[in-house]
Amino acid sequence: MSTSGHSHSHGRAHPEIAPGDVPVSVDIFDTTLRDGSQQEGLSLTVDDKLRVAEQLDHLGVAYIEGGWPGANPKDEEFFARAPVELRLSTATLVAFGSTRRPGVRAEDDEVLRNLVEAGTSTVCIVAKASEVHVTDALRTSLDEALSMAADSVAFLRDHDLRVFFDAEHFFDGYRINREFTMRVLRSAADAGAEALVLCDTNGGSLPHEVDQIVAEVVGSFDCQIGVHFHNDAGCAVANSVAGVLAGATQVQGCVNGYGERAGNADLTAAIPNLALKLNIRTIPEDRLERLTPVAHHVAELVNISPNPQQPYVGTAAFAHKAGLHTSAIARRRDAYEHIAPDSVGNGTRFVVSELAGRSTLALKAEELGLSLHSDALDEVLGTLKELEHSGYHFEVADGSLELLLKRATGWEPDYFELETFRVISDHNGIASTEATVKVRVCGERVVATAEGNGPVNALDSALRQAIGKYYPSLAHIHLVDYRVRVLDTKLGTGAVTRVLIDTTDGEFTWTTIGVSENIIEASWRALYDSIVYGLLHSGYGATGATGPAEDR
Ligand SMILES: [Zn+2]
Repeated sequence: MSTSGHSHSHGRAHPEIAPGDVPVSVDIFDTTLRDGSQQEGLSLTVDDKLRVAEQLDHLGVAYIEGGWPGANPKDEEFFARAPVELRLSTATLVAFGSTRRPGVRAEDDEVLRNLVEAGTSTVCIVAKASEVHVTDALRTSLDEALSMAADSVAFLRDHDLRVFFDAEHFFDGYRINREFTMRVLRSAADAGAEALVLCDTNGGSLPHEVDQIVAEVVGSFDCQIGVHFHNDAGCAVANSVAGVLAGATQVQGCVNGYGERAGNADLTAAIPNLALKLNIRTIPEDRLERLTPVAHHVAELVNISPNPQQPYVGTAAFAHKAGLHTSAIARRRDAYEHIAPDSVGNGTRFVVSELAGRSTLALKAEELGLSLHSDALDEVLGTLKELEHSGYHFEVADGSLELLLKRATGWEPDYFELETFRVISDHNGIASTEATVKVRVCGERVVATAEGNGPVNALDSALRQAIGKYYPSLAHIHLVDYRVRVLDTKLGTGAVTRVLIDTTDGEFTWTTIGVSENIIEASWRALYDSIVYGLLHSGYGATGATGPAEDR
């Protein structure tokens, strides 16, 4: 295999790729807004969809599949607003639909009409490419299925549209009746499809099969070949890579691997695999470092907590629970990390727990840019062990750990000073909670009361009401998750409660912790750290603010 000899401009002319030749570049086709939104629990408003599209364009994908125009009012509104509200710089917006129905002329088919009216330059249509699905699901003849493919592509080409052709159930169909499945592709290609996209709709294929089948298709057609994998066998990314190595030059998938069942191919892993390991052009090279921020931003927009263990972009992807190896990692990071984390916008993290030695803690301080002298290091190590013994767990609370280390340098936050708080919960038909906080902030005493759906929510609202006008950037910071665990202690009735709070500013997420016998007190401690951490990183100064600082 060679990596030279072929090149093509991004998103347009596609050269012939001989079997066995590795492409120089591929087009990344994102389908988060269409296939990805099939994920259970994932629901996007039109505004959300527009924001996700902006992120994808910022990342630099070649195509954004926006949805299925005419299928529902939401997608219709999206395609109406997109040309007005989106300024896409790298991406081409694609409308999705299906081939004409059996026995209906293309010009009379509603789905095809909607595609033309969507106003995009490029469309992607799905066709059944497996004999079983034609006879059993579509209940029509194989010949009619071939005509449906050809007529639909021809109709869309007649309307000057670029047509990508998604061959649904392609890999399964190939195994059942190879001849028919290849004839479906041929019908679409002869009618003028620009790309034939081979879909592993059930997601059960393995890389060695993909390699073989894609190579055969690439060798048989002049047009661009794309691949679309689902992750039901846990191989969607591996299959995408295998497909490209066999000559495919369009890779479809979703940010963070969103999608039905086990999800689609995770583009946040497929992209760096292709770009960093195989030297194949995917998104613009200088944008690879946007991968982690975009992955987290999109997670935020779709309201799904990011998976810490996600390859490349997860918060734990380069986290080392060091112990014995700490000093070795410090000396030779590349010996313990498969890529340089900052090349994808992520970073090395040292996980600190009570088992950690001094060197781990020193590394952590260095990672945070804090200089701790030897005595301070011993002191903070002592404090850490004591707190962990009482139920704290800093391994999962990076935000609180950073504040603890920062305090060891002599820093004390003085953004605000709590005088008292009070939380009242009552049940009068419906449960309601009200919190009052009294604080001193910027030389003034402020009392604020707020309601909430629970004690943390009520306290958070009251505190924001009290200090929000002094720190405007708090408006961009909000809690995303709250977890409570009752810890088994030897204290008899007085069980200890551990509260963890995840907070985000939209780009970055941090976790803080509070432990107490009293759940409200534990919640307050975690909340306090969460807000102080947010203020510290919003440009309000490392030594505490005396007044509102410039909003970053
Ligand atoms: Zn799919």
